[in-house]
Amino acid sequence: MDKTDNKSLNLAELTDIKSLNLAELKEDIEALGEKKFRAAQIYDWLHKKLVTSFDEMTNLSAALRERLKERYELVCVHPVDVRTSKLDETKKFLFELNDGNVIESVWMKYNHGNSVCISSQVGCRMGCRFCASTIDGMVRNLRPSEMLEQVYRIQKLTGERVSNIVIMGSGEPLDNFDNLLRFLELISDENGLNISHRNITVSTCGLVDKIYELADKKLQITLALSLHASNDETRRTLMPIANKYTIKEELDACDYYYRMTGRRISFEYSLVSGVNDSEEIAYELAGLLKGRNCHVNLIPVNPVKERKFMRTNYDKIMKFKNILEKCSINATIRRELGMDIDGACGQLRRSYHESASNK
Ligand code: SAH
Repeated sequence: MDKTDNKSLNLAELTDIKSLNLAELKEDIEALGEKKFRAAQIYDWLHKKLVTSFDEMTNLSAALRERLKERYELVCVHPVDVRTSKLDETKKFLFELNDGNVIESVWMKYNHGNSVCISSQVGCRMGCRFCASTIDGMVRNLRPSEMLEQVYRIQKLTGERVSNIVIMGSGEPLDNFDNLLRFLELISDENGLNISHRNITVSTCGLVDKIYELADKKLQITLALSLHASNDETRRTLMPIANKYTIKEELDACDYYYRMTGRRISFEYSLVSGVNDSEEIAYELAGLLKGRNCHVNLIPVNPVKERKFMRTNYDKIMKFKNILEKCSINATIRRELGMDIDGACGQLRRSYHESASNK
């Protein structure tokens, strides 16, 4: 089966229909000499019924469907591997894009609903020392349609409604800012899946200028900052972004985000044995965050075979958490899901590439 309706055409000349908002689509469809209401029908097929071909749009004439194929690229993601955890039903999807790149997304079942973790770029250029996604750098940004499609395809494949989205897969979402904003617009559109911004978390390694820009949009999304250290010196050993911005600058940007949106900031803190997990550091972290309406998400570092970092043992993680709580800082230990299926960021994509190059 052809992956898209228009495989034989030059995709570069076609408009990415799934990245258009309804107003743009209306304008475009009218320019084709069609009635405006056709745009609403098409939008409904794309963003509510989640079809993967123009031929499924059965309330359009065959002639119109042909015209659409000539003008638009229908961006879809194609599952090339799906792994289900035997431990907790978490599913990891490896999706192929129309240009042959692969990305990964994760589906997680929680009591409060299903959550999907999506990628925002193919690879990543941020260079965090413990992360598998960044090892080979960034290939390209994902388009809004490709971010949407991860959610759409997973909802179709699982047959279950997605209620929460975390943009914590491969890539740095704020490094793909405009496409991220369009994604946030379309995923929350009442004519589409209508997922509330309050159920969406955007995680950043800390692109300070972009945090300010996002804050000014006053969206109701949760911002998660990957902090991972309580002082600049340690942060610089883990994350190159710390050479550009100090923790003080990061926290000032987060405070501004909170002031503009009223949304509590979430700080991610991956515990790396012997690097950032001592009791003194827990106190230092508590001092740093004191007085803020925030939440700390403690993540036992997921060992990546290309990296030498070791995870902190459970007792020590509990101690770290207790110190934060004693100092009135909200903290939780991230439930580890899908440990048996290459759970960490970028690991499944890497193992896929490795097995392909060994063939
Ligand atoms: N670029 C964004 C979002 C993607 S990573 C960011 O940096 O926030 C999502 C989270 O997983 C980040 O907090 C990241 O630092 C963390 N992470 C990446 N690899 C990890 C690993 N091997 N173990 C634990 N946390 C990891």
